[in-house]
Amino acid sequence: MASATEPEGGNTIFGKIIRKEIPSDIIYEDEQCLAFKDINPQAPVHFLVIPKKPIPGLSKATEEDIPLLGHLMFIAQKVAKEQKLENGFRVVVNDGSDGCQTVFHVHLHVLGKRQLSWPPG
Ligand code: AMP
Repeated sequence: MASATEPEGGNTIFGKIIRKEIPSDIIYEDEQCLAFKDINPQAPVHFLVIPKKPIPGLSKATEEDIPLLGHLMFIAQKVAKEQKLENGFRVVVNDGSDGCQTVFHVHLHVLGKRQLSWPPG
């Protein structure tokens, strides 16, 4: 819910993308979420799935967000299929400083079309 100080979608760069205030390469949108290409791709296919609700990070989610988080996961695999990631893909959620989170609006990274290694750096 937007407040007097926080616009719909929140104050981060992803809020601006949700409100279409800045350009982005949107590949999926519904009433709850948005998927768009990462501006600094780490694989031949790298897109982000974000909720329109501005949850600052996975660790800030509440029990009421459970259906929304499930929706994001479902859309991640649906868009991965549309992006022809038939050999597999990776879904990553960075959280907090140890997790290298840089944008404080929860998002799923979906990476594919190259062989990924494990463990991650
Ligand atoms: P994280 O480090 O997990 O918070 O990921 C944030 C991601 O957002 C990074 O992979 C950035 O490349 C990406 N990003 C930042 N600004 C934009 C933008 N304007 N459009 C698309 N992706 C962006």
